[in-house]
Amino acid sequence: MAARIYLLGVQGRFEIEKMPVTTLVTTHSIDRLLTDSAAGATAMATGYKTRNGMVGMSRDSVVFKTVLEAAMERGKSSGLIATSSITHATPACFASHVPSRSQHSEIARQLIHQQVDVILGGGRQYFLPQEMSGSKRSDSLNLLKMASGLGYEVVNDKKQLERITSNKILGLFALGELKQGTLQPTLCEMTRKALEVLGKDPDGFFLMVEGSQIDWAGHDNDFPALVREMAAFDSAVAVGLEFAQNNKNTLILVTADHETGGLLITGGDVDGKNIKVDWHYTSHTGQMVPLFAAGSGAQSFSGIIDNTDIAKILANLLGLQNFPKVINPD
Ligand SMILES: [Zn+2]
Repeated sequence: MAARIYLLGVQGRFEIEKMPVTTLVTTHSIDRLLTDSAAGATAMATGYKTRNGMVGMSRDSVVFKTVLEAAMERGKSSGLIATSSITHATPACFASHVPSRSQHSEIARQLIHQQVDVILGGGRQYFLPQEMSGSKRSDSLNLLKMASGLGYEVVNDKKQLERITSNKILGLFALGELKQGTLQPTLCEMTRKALEVLGKDPDGFFLMVEGSQIDWAGHDNDFPALVREMAAFDSAVAVGLEFAQNNKNTLILVTADHETGGLLITGGDVDGKNIKVDWHYTSHTGQMVPLFAAGSGAQSFSGIIDNTDIAKILANLLGLQNFPKVINPD
């Protein structure tokens, strides 16, 4: 809200804020009031609470099926987009299962083998074999080669991404996180390409897009960075909303793993000039986060819900049987 007032004044609205349905979401993890992104995203992706740091698994390392995986089993396409490394906790929780979010190399391997159709973001360092410069792997697996073998077109810059017509894309545009104002594609451009590709599947698709660095601005208590990241994220949501306008059977959800930084508006003018803000924390807080919904099924979200309800409601709307689901080891 503070970012929007700064940019647009009190009368203005982000595209996100024009979405017709708004609810509030509780975000605690299984044993902590303050969640991290791994437990938060696991809850949203699987319908189960877990311990902070754990990705798509219970605290006893039992694997939970994700809504993305269940949608793929029903013949839908899938995509993950982030401006952090694509192996970062939030995207990881939708298509990989590891006891610790720090296992980037293994998450990278699982994302490829899960055959997520469109993977766009940063984190190339976890896909390169240790022999190659820039690699952060501790083995000789070349996941870029492996991905090609699995049918992916691998791209690493914006021009290649623009030109590509493949239905299966691995686009890694930096060794680590992406940076605004560079030759890398923006969140908006990545979202547009993903919708162009995934929108061709007559069975539909599940796409998760993360404005990963909004959280980092909160950790840094950096208001200008927050404004920049929120504006970039809002542009990406606008692309999604436009797609939903033209493809009526589409649901768009916008929410967060957790609040970060405890930002308060403490002064300023109604046109947004001279806005004063005060940060209260440099980590995640236990505040509820908003969820905005638009399109087909949006009315299923109402009142105060828990982050695990997001996966459950989605599964219901998708007609998924037997979800949430624990995957028993065989
Ligand atoms: Zn964080």
